[in-house]
Amino acid sequence: MELAAEIRDLHKYYDLGAVIVKALRGVTAEFPKGDFVAIMGASGSGKSTLLNILGALDRPTHGEYILGGSDTSVLSDDDLSAIRNEMIGFIFQSYNLIPQFTVLENIAVPLQYQRNGKGVGVSQMNWCRELADRVGLADRLDHRPTQLSGGQQQRVAIARALVNDPQIILADEPTGNLDTETEAEIMQVLTDLNVEGRTILMVTHEMSVARLAKRQLHLTDGQKVFDGVPTAETLAPGSLVPTAVPSPPPTAVSDGSDVYSVDNPDDDGSPGDDWDG
Ligand code: ADP
Ligand code: MG
Repeated sequence: MELAAEIRDLHKYYDLGAVIVKALRGVTAEFPKGDFVAIMGASGSGKSTLLNILGALDRPTHGEYILGGSDTSVLSDDDLSAIRNEMIGFIFQSYNLIPQFTVLENIAVPLQYQRNGKGVGVSQMNWCRELADRVGLADRLDHRPTQLSGGQQQRVAIARALVNDPQIILADEPTGNLDTETEAEIMQVLTDLNVEGRTILMVTHEMSVARLAKRQLHLTDGQKVFDGVPTAETLAPGSLVPTAVPSPPPTAVSDGSDVYSVDNPDDDGSPGDDWDG
Protein backbone atom coordinates (compact mmCIF):
# COMPACT_ATOMS: atom_id res chain seq x y z
CA MET A 1 0.00 0.00 0.00
CA GLU A 2 1.61 3.19 -1.15
CA LEU A 3 1.10 6.14 1.18
CA ALA A 4 0.40 9.66 -0.01
CA ALA A 5 1.15 10.94 3.47
CA GLU A 6 1.80 9.68 6.97
CA ILE A 7 1.90 11.34 10.37
CA ARG A 8 3.52 9.84 13.45
CA ASP A 9 2.88 11.07 16.98
CA LEU A 10 2.17 14.56 15.73
CA HIS A 11 2.07 17.37 18.28
CA LYS A 12 1.43 21.04 17.64
CA TYR A 13 1.68 23.60 20.43
CA TYR A 14 0.99 27.30 20.16
CA ASP A 15 3.00 29.29 22.68
CA LEU A 16 0.91 32.30 23.65
CA GLY A 17 3.29 33.40 26.41
CA ALA A 18 0.97 33.07 29.40
CA VAL A 19 -0.37 29.76 28.12
CA ILE A 20 0.59 27.03 25.69
CA VAL A 21 -2.28 25.75 23.55
CA LYS A 22 -1.84 22.08 22.72
CA ALA A 23 -3.75 21.93 19.44
CA LEU A 24 -2.55 18.44 18.50
CA ARG A 25 -1.46 15.88 21.08
CA GLY A 26 0.06 12.81 19.50
CA VAL A 27 -1.87 12.02 16.33
CA THR A 28 -0.74 9.07 14.21
CA ALA A 29 -2.36 8.15 10.89
CA GLU A 30 -1.62 6.80 7.43
CA PHE A 31 -3.17 8.19 4.28
CA PRO A 32 -2.90 5.71 1.38
CA LYS A 33 -2.84 7.03 -2.17
CA GLY A 34 -6.38 7.38 -3.48
CA ASP A 35 -7.96 7.65 -0.04
CA PHE A 36 -10.77 10.10 0.69
CA VAL A 37 -10.75 11.05 4.36
CA ALA A 38 -13.17 13.26 6.25
CA ILE A 39 -11.42 14.87 9.22
CA MET A 40 -14.09 15.62 11.81
CA GLY A 41 -14.43 17.02 15.28
CA ALA A 42 -15.81 19.89 17.31
CA SER A 43 -14.67 23.46 16.79
CA GLY A 44 -11.21 23.84 18.31
CA SER A 45 -10.40 20.11 18.19
CA GLY A 46 -7.38 20.68 15.92
CA LYS A 47 -8.78 19.97 12.43
CA SER A 48 -7.37 23.04 10.71
CA THR A 49 -4.08 22.72 12.56
CA LEU A 50 -3.77 19.16 11.26
CA LEU A 51 -4.71 20.19 7.73
CA ASN A 52 -2.16 23.01 7.77
CA ILE A 53 0.57 20.56 8.72
CA LEU A 54 -0.59 18.04 6.11
CA GLY A 55 -0.48 20.90 3.60
CA ALA A 56 3.07 21.79 4.66
CA LEU A 57 1.89 25.29 5.52
CA ASP A 58 3.05 24.72 9.06
CA ARG A 59 5.41 22.35 10.85
CA PRO A 60 4.69 20.16 13.88
CA THR A 61 6.18 20.91 17.28
CA HIS A 62 7.00 17.21 17.72
CA GLY A 63 6.44 14.14 15.62
CA GLU A 64 6.94 13.26 12.00
CA TYR A 65 5.19 14.19 8.81
CA ILE A 66 6.12 12.07 5.81
CA LEU A 67 4.86 13.48 2.54
CA GLY A 68 5.20 11.40 -0.62
CA GLY A 69 7.86 9.29 1.11
CA SER A 70 9.97 12.27 2.29
CA ASP A 71 10.40 13.17 5.95
CA THR A 72 9.44 16.84 5.84
CA SER A 73 11.41 17.71 9.01
CA VAL A 74 14.72 17.50 7.13
CA LEU A 75 13.55 19.69 4.24
CA SER A 76 14.40 23.38 4.04
CA ASP A 77 11.48 25.79 3.88
CA ASP A 78 12.17 26.32 0.16
CA ASP A 79 12.20 22.60 -0.59
CA LEU A 80 9.05 22.12 1.46
CA SER A 81 7.32 24.92 -0.49
CA ALA A 82 8.40 23.34 -3.77
CA ILE A 83 7.02 19.93 -2.77
CA ARG A 84 3.82 21.56 -1.54
CA ASN A 85 3.36 23.40 -4.83
CA GLU A 86 3.92 20.25 -6.83
CA MET A 87 1.98 17.74 -4.75
CA ILE A 88 -0.84 19.57 -2.98
CA GLY A 89 -3.88 21.57 -3.99
CA PHE A 90 -5.85 23.57 -1.39
CA ILE A 91 -9.55 24.37 -1.16
CA PHE A 92 -10.88 26.62 1.60
CA GLN A 93 -14.32 27.32 3.03
CA SER A 94 -14.20 30.97 1.99
CA TYR A 95 -12.72 30.23 -1.48
CA ASN A 96 -9.83 32.71 -1.00
CA LEU A 97 -10.07 34.11 -4.52
CA ILE A 98 -8.43 37.39 -5.49
CA PRO A 99 -11.30 39.84 -6.06
CA GLN A 100 -9.52 41.96 -8.69
CA PHE A 101 -8.66 38.91 -10.80
CA THR A 102 -10.89 37.22 -13.36
CA VAL A 103 -11.84 33.55 -13.13
CA LEU A 104 -9.03 32.63 -15.51
CA GLU A 105 -6.45 34.75 -13.66
CA ASN A 106 -7.48 33.25 -10.33
CA ILE A 107 -7.06 29.73 -11.67
CA ALA A 108 -3.57 30.65 -12.89
CA VAL A 109 -2.39 32.08 -9.55
CA PRO A 110 -0.37 29.02 -8.37
CA LEU A 111 1.58 29.10 -11.64
CA GLN A 112 3.04 32.45 -10.60
CA TYR A 113 4.76 30.77 -7.66
CA GLN A 114 6.68 28.28 -9.72
CA ARG A 115 10.36 28.27 -8.91
CA ASN A 116 11.75 28.89 -12.36
CA GLY A 117 10.30 32.41 -12.25
CA LYS A 118 9.09 32.22 -15.83
CA GLY A 119 5.87 33.98 -16.70
CA VAL A 120 2.70 32.04 -17.36
CA GLY A 121 2.84 30.87 -20.99
CA VAL A 122 0.17 30.34 -23.60
CA SER A 123 0.02 26.58 -23.10
CA GLN A 124 -0.37 27.09 -19.36
CA MET A 125 -3.26 29.53 -19.91
CA ASN A 126 -4.85 26.94 -22.20
CA TRP A 127 -4.49 24.41 -19.40
CA CYS A 128 -6.27 26.89 -17.08
CA ARG A 129 -9.08 27.20 -19.63
CA GLU A 130 -9.35 23.41 -19.72
CA LEU A 131 -9.67 23.33 -15.94
CA ALA A 132 -12.32 26.06 -16.02
CA ASP A 133 -14.19 23.96 -18.56
CA ARG A 134 -13.83 20.90 -16.37
CA VAL A 135 -15.49 22.62 -13.41
CA GLY A 136 -18.24 24.04 -15.65
CA LEU A 137 -17.04 27.64 -15.89
CA ALA A 138 -15.95 27.82 -19.52
CA ASP A 139 -18.43 30.64 -20.14
CA ARG A 140 -17.34 32.65 -17.08
CA LEU A 141 -13.63 33.12 -17.74
CA ASP A 142 -13.71 36.91 -17.60
CA HIS A 143 -16.03 37.20 -14.60
CA ARG A 144 -14.73 38.43 -11.27
CA PRO A 145 -15.48 36.56 -8.03
CA THR A 146 -18.19 39.03 -6.94
CA GLN A 147 -20.09 38.23 -10.14
CA LEU A 148 -20.25 34.54 -9.24
CA SER A 149 -22.38 32.47 -6.88
CA GLY A 150 -20.73 30.75 -3.92
CA GLY A 151 -20.77 27.41 -5.72
CA GLN A 152 -19.16 28.96 -8.79
CA GLN A 153 -16.50 30.61 -6.65
CA GLN A 154 -15.70 27.26 -5.07
CA ARG A 155 -15.43 25.75 -8.56
CA VAL A 156 -12.85 28.40 -9.43
CA ALA A 157 -10.98 27.46 -6.26
CA ILE A 158 -11.08 23.78 -7.22
CA ALA A 159 -9.75 24.54 -10.71
CA ARG A 160 -6.99 26.64 -9.09
CA ALA A 161 -6.19 23.72 -6.76
CA LEU A 162 -5.77 21.46 -9.80
CA VAL A 163 -3.48 23.73 -11.79
CA ASN A 164 -0.27 21.92 -10.81
CA ASP A 165 -1.97 18.53 -11.18
CA PRO A 166 -1.51 17.62 -7.50
CA GLN A 167 -1.79 14.09 -6.12
CA ILE A 168 -3.31 15.36 -2.91
CA ILE A 169 -6.25 17.74 -2.45
CA LEU A 170 -6.71 19.32 0.98
CA ALA A 171 -10.06 20.91 1.66
CA ASP A 172 -11.03 22.80 4.83
CA GLU A 173 -14.84 22.88 5.14
CA PRO A 174 -15.18 23.16 1.34
CA THR A 175 -18.98 23.32 1.48
CA GLY A 176 -19.27 25.24 4.74
CA ASN A 177 -20.67 28.36 3.06
CA LEU A 178 -22.91 26.59 0.54
CA ASP A 179 -26.56 25.54 0.44
CA THR A 180 -27.44 21.85 0.35
CA GLU A 181 -27.88 21.60 -3.41
CA THR A 182 -24.61 23.38 -4.17
CA GLU A 183 -22.91 21.30 -1.49
CA ALA A 184 -23.93 18.17 -3.38
CA GLU A 185 -22.55 19.58 -6.65
CA ILE A 186 -19.21 20.49 -5.12
CA MET A 187 -18.98 17.10 -3.38
CA GLN A 188 -19.60 15.42 -6.74
CA VAL A 189 -16.61 17.33 -8.19
CA LEU A 190 -14.45 16.17 -5.25
CA THR A 191 -15.72 12.59 -5.58
CA ASP A 192 -14.80 12.63 -9.29
CA LEU A 193 -11.29 13.84 -8.43
CA ASN A 194 -10.97 10.97 -5.97
CA VAL A 195 -12.25 8.43 -8.49
CA GLU A 196 -9.51 9.53 -10.89
CA GLY A 197 -6.97 8.64 -8.21
CA ARG A 198 -6.31 11.78 -6.21
CA THR A 199 -6.04 11.56 -2.44
CA ILE A 200 -8.53 13.85 -0.73
CA LEU A 201 -8.20 14.96 2.89
CA MET A 202 -11.17 17.08 3.84
CA VAL A 203 -12.12 18.80 7.07
CA THR A 204 -15.85 18.92 7.67
CA HIS A 205 -18.27 18.93 10.55
CA GLU A 206 -21.24 17.97 8.37
CA MET A 207 -22.14 14.29 8.46
CA SER A 208 -23.92 14.75 5.10
CA VAL A 209 -20.51 15.65 3.63
CA ALA A 210 -18.42 13.20 5.65
CA ARG A 211 -20.49 10.20 4.61
CA LEU A 212 -19.32 10.76 1.02
CA ALA A 213 -15.72 10.12 2.06
CA LYS A 214 -14.27 6.61 2.23
CA ARG A 215 -13.07 7.00 5.78
CA GLN A 216 -13.47 9.30 8.76
CA LEU A 217 -10.88 10.50 11.24
CA HIS A 218 -12.33 12.13 14.34
CA LEU A 219 -10.41 14.48 16.62
CA THR A 220 -11.30 15.47 20.16
CA ASP A 221 -9.06 17.99 21.97
CA GLY A 222 -6.17 17.34 19.60
CA GLN A 223 -6.31 13.57 19.84
CA LYS A 224 -7.59 10.95 17.41
CA VAL A 225 -10.65 9.22 18.82
CA PHE A 226 -11.93 7.41 15.72
CA ASP A 227 -10.32 6.38 12.45
CA GLY A 228 -12.17 4.12 10.07
CA VAL A 229 -15.31 3.43 8.13
CA PRO A 230 -18.47 4.01 10.15
CA THR A 231 -20.49 1.46 8.22
CA ALA A 232 -23.92 2.41 9.48
CA GLU A 233 -23.36 5.90 8.15
CA THR A 234 -21.71 5.14 4.84
CA LEU A 235 -23.56 5.58 1.60
CA ALA A 236 -22.51 4.15 -1.74
CA PRO A 237 -19.78 6.39 -3.22
CA GLY A 238 -21.20 9.06 -5.45
CA SER A 239 -24.67 8.80 -4.02
CA LEU A 240 -25.87 12.25 -3.07
CA VAL A 241 -29.38 11.32 -2.05
CA PRO A 242 -30.12 12.73 1.39
CA THR A 243 -30.85 10.01 3.89
CA ALA A 244 -33.22 9.86 6.78
CA VAL A 245 -32.03 10.01 10.37
CA PRO A 246 -30.12 6.75 10.95
CA SER A 247 -31.95 4.28 13.14
CA PRO A 248 -30.31 3.21 16.34
CA PRO A 249 -28.67 -0.22 16.07
CA PRO A 250 -31.04 -3.06 16.97
CA THR A 251 -29.10 -3.89 20.10
CA ALA A 252 -29.24 -0.34 21.43
CA VAL A 253 -30.90 -0.07 24.80
CA SER A 254 -30.08 3.61 25.28
CA ASP A 255 -31.85 6.38 23.44
CA GLY A 256 -29.59 5.64 20.48
CA SER A 257 -28.45 9.22 20.27
CA ASP A 258 -24.82 8.19 20.01
CA VAL A 259 -24.20 6.43 16.73
CA TYR A 260 -20.52 5.70 17.34
CA SER A 261 -18.48 4.37 20.17
CA VAL A 262 -16.92 7.79 20.57
CA ASP A 263 -18.37 10.80 22.27
CA ASN A 264 -20.23 13.13 19.98
CA PRO A 265 -17.28 14.70 18.18
CA ASP A 266 -19.11 17.91 17.49
CA ASP A 267 -20.45 19.09 20.79
CA ASP A 268 -20.79 22.72 19.84
CA GLY A 269 -24.29 22.86 21.24
CA SER A 270 -26.08 22.47 17.95
CA PRO A 271 -27.52 18.97 18.03
CA GLY A 272 -29.03 17.82 14.81
CA ASP A 273 -26.95 19.87 12.38
CA ASP A 274 -24.28 17.27 11.92
CA TRP A 275 -25.40 13.79 12.67
CA ASP A 276 -28.72 13.44 10.99
CA GLY A 277 -27.87 14.74 7.54
P1 ADP B 1 -10.55 23.43 14.43
O1 ADP B 1 -10.12 23.66 13.01
O2 ADP B 1 -10.87 22.01 14.74
O3 ADP B 1 -11.66 24.34 14.85
P2 ADP B 1 -7.97 24.58 15.13
O4 ADP B 1 -6.97 23.65 14.57
O5 ADP B 1 -8.25 25.81 14.35
O6 ADP B 1 -9.32 23.77 15.40
O7 ADP B 1 -7.54 25.00 16.59
C1 ADP B 1 -7.15 24.07 17.59
C2 ADP B 1 -6.77 24.82 18.84
O8 ADP B 1 -5.58 25.56 18.59
C3 ADP B 1 -7.80 25.83 19.28
O9 ADP B 1 -7.77 25.88 20.68
C4 ADP B 1 -7.30 27.13 18.70
O10 ADP B 1 -7.72 28.22 19.46
C5 ADP B 1 -5.81 26.95 18.76
N1 ADP B 1 -5.09 27.65 17.68
C6 ADP B 1 -5.22 27.43 16.36
N2 ADP B 1 -4.40 28.21 15.64
C7 ADP B 1 -3.72 28.97 16.56
C8 ADP B 1 -2.71 29.99 16.47
N3 ADP B 1 -2.20 30.37 15.29
N4 ADP B 1 -2.26 30.52 17.62
C9 ADP B 1 -2.74 30.13 18.81
N5 ADP B 1 -3.68 29.18 18.97
C10 ADP B 1 -4.17 28.60 17.87
MG1 MG C 1 -10.95 24.92 11.51
